[in-house]
Amino acid sequence: MLNSPIDFQTLFLDMNSFFASVEQQVQPKLRGVPVGVAPYIGGSGCIIAASREAKLAGIKTGSLVREAKKIYPKIKIIESRPALYLIYHKEIKKVIESFSPYFQPLSIDEFIIHLTPREQNFATAMKLGADIKDKIRENVGDFLTSSVGIGPSRFLAKMAGERKKPDGLTIVKLSGLEKFYADLKLTDLTGINHQLEFRLGSFGINSPLDFFQADIPRLRQILGHAGRLWFYRLRGFEVDNVQSPTKTVGHSHVLAPEFRNRAGAEAVIRKLIYKAASRLRAGKFLAAGISVSVSFHDASGFHQSKKVPPFSDTKSFIDHVFEILKNCRWCSGCHCEERSNLDFKRLPRAEKNIGSRNDNARPLTPSYVSVSAFNLSSSHEIQLSIFKDIEKSRQISEAMDKIDDQFGVGFVHPASVFSAKDSAPDRIPFGKPRYEIRH
Ligand SMILES: [Mg+2]
Repeated sequence: MLNSPIDFQTLFLDMNSFFASVEQQVQPKLRGVPVGVAPYIGGSGCIIAASREAKLAGIKTGSLVREAKKIYPKIKIIESRPALYLIYHKEIKKVIESFSPYFQPLSIDEFIIHLTPREQNFATAMKLGADIKDKIRENVGDFLTSSVGIGPSRFLAKMAGERKKPDGLTIVKLSGLEKFYADLKLTDLTGINHQLEFRLGSFGINSPLDFFQADIPRLRQILGHAGRLWFYRLRGFEVDNVQSPTKTVGHSHVLAPEFRNRAGAEAVIRKLIYKAASRLRAGKFLAAGISVSVSFHDASGFHQSKKVPPFSDTKSFIDHVFEILKNCRWCSGCHCEERSNLDFKRLPRAEKNIGSRNDNARPLTPSYVSVSAFNLSSSHEIQLSIFKDIEKSRQISEAMDKIDDQFGVGFVHPASVFSAKDSAPDRIPFGKPRYEIRH
């Protein structure tokens, strides 16, 4: 059930010519000059960011270096420095965080803020947008400009932001939608490419206004299920907030008899972690919280959660979970959980026997385990991870995901999962990564 749209619900911020502006920020001699940033500066390299001067000269993001040089021979081509852009991203994020806790990074240079009811009016929303832009210039870099759009949904806020570049601040309201669409071309709508433009055109929809005025049956006839989504999207309903349904990613499993011991339970937990971590990455999430539960046959149980630095790789997930599991008590009547916190080698001999001194000590029988990751956020920024170990672990994890995609989950697995390989089969199909615009 969709909520009715409300004005001023979402603020969208997009940094202008981000990588190129950061280069101009740190190298003042590049200011006022057409600059193209490319991962490889040879002729076949691709320009991933063009400065506003380069754009004015007709150079687009995505052109080849050799094409750009043909258009403007004196263009300065700079080799991209992802680590530098990530530092700037984090500084911008700090500014946004200082204004609102309800924000979400969508990519390295785009953020949205969900405005609170108190902020949902023209004067306050406008001031918030202007203040954020100013503070980025003051605190992060005087050469950095951004475009801000404010609207009822992230789609409309983004479209509003794109109306004025660079350095714009635009509001679109529900009552002004007809006028807003009247000034646009179909391909100006986020999510409408030339192919869709052609399809709509062949059904007589030649402008955003035609599109807006078409009813659901007609849109379904042209675009199938996506037609219905477009009907609501164009009216400011939030249909693209794809992250809210997934607040946690986790798996649980009732242990088969042969796994009802500590080693078996730990092996199944590892297997569950592999599945959950793979889903995190498929959903392009970072998790900043972990929880683990183990239930035992005698109705006792262990449950603990903790906050952790954002991650999406399997190794971090395993490390965090097994760190928590150090606190789990696997026996009744013994003191193993206390012992695990002591430096065993340094204890006097009598103390070393503390665990076996109690004749009633016996292992508990685990019957059910579960792990989950929560505090999810979008993981676009990890594309630019500068931390080598994390990056390496992430690459290994992604390579394994690809093999799983091709051959089925569990085709590759580390030796430690081997005994649990056939336990905890997949019940939940792996979702494909979601895109900004749903079809
Ligand atoms: Mg941008």
